[in-house]
Amino acid sequence: MELNKLLRKNILSLKPYSSARDEYSGEAMVFLDANENPFNQPFNRYPDPLQKKLKTKIAELKDVATENIFLGNGSDEPIDLIIRAFCEPGIDNIVTIDPTYGMYQVSAEINNVEIKKVSLTDEFQLDVEEVFKAVNENTKLIFLCSPNNPSGNCLEKELMVEIVQNFKGVVIIDEAYIDFAPGKSLLPELEKYPNLIILQTFSKAWGMAGIRLGMAFSWKPVIDVLNKIKYPYNLNILTQKKAIKLLKQKEQIGKWVKLLIAERNKMVRLLGAFPFVVKIYPSDANFLLVKMHDAPGIYTYLVEKGIIVRNRSKIHLCENSLRITIGSSDENEVLLKALNELI
Ligand SMILES: *Cc1c(COP(=O)(O)O)cnc(C)c1O
Repeated sequence: MELNKLLRKNILSLKPYSSARDEYSGEAMVFLDANENPFNQPFNRYPDPLQKKLKTKIAELKDVATENIFLGNGSDEPIDLIIRAFCEPGIDNIVTIDPTYGMYQVSAEINNVEIKKVSLTDEFQLDVEEVFKAVNENTKLIFLCSPNNPSGNCLEKELMVEIVQNFKGVVIIDEAYIDFAPGKSLLPELEKYPNLIILQTFSKAWGMAGIRLGMAFSWKPVIDVLNKIKYPYNLNILTQKKAIKLLKQKEQIGKWVKLLIAERNKMVRLLGAFPFVVKIYPSDANFLLVKMHDAPGIYTYLVEKGIIVRNRSKIHLCENSLRITIGSSDENEVLLKALNELI
């Protein structure tokens, strides 16, 4: 991949802001270089701009080198940074699948970058030929999402690889829900593909949506570009400290994932028995896309009961469908009870 040809010229030539902690990052007796306040420790200090300690822990967990990791304020940050690094506003475009996560479109539109949507098949699978039909000489990025939101299924690995191998630009695979689909990540194969960026997050299986921590994995030159254009201190001290603490509890996360998958399977069984449920799509994630007779009506009924699910009925291929997150056993029971009262 010719990274320098793909990047916007202004990004290629950009000289990044050099912070005090960039210019001196070692230990010292006295720090008088960043205009910090000496009181209110430890929050008086700026955070590590490259989050080295946290990255070392994540590198161990994911079995990748720290130089292949970018950390952001949620995965939403790398999504925006990737578009800004590669796409010339008003000229370049991105290709996404449809339906999928809404932030690719929002970020593209904020940056005045055209988005071309390629419909998935009726089974929510990739149509590689259609994807390449949408690509033109100004297409810099293809966004895939596996497991996909809102459908819940994984895209076929072979088809994703086919796109990565044949596209001249960069492919982003958003694996926000991959912890619920063990064995299906492309991360172990990252080294094979210099034009691949994998996104993961601490917001779902790790139960840390509130601290805003997302990850991007790629080869070093791409990670270096993202680091160059991010805000210098994009991850605050509280997030970095909390994440390091939670990474020590990875057995607990494994238990949550197992429990949520068991709950999901239970919900497939029990929701499937309701007469107004038409179809439950196969899910590799912590939610179910459920097609119903009159999904908007059921959505409104549930809101009145204080139960909020996501009405996806207006989304392409999701007519009359609700996206239901798998909650705790108690929460799921509340939903089932409310639906039972509808019969
Ligand atoms: C929830 C979700 C994310 C998570 O975004 P964060 O900014 O990390 O919270 C990313 N991608 C998809 C497809 C999601 O559904």
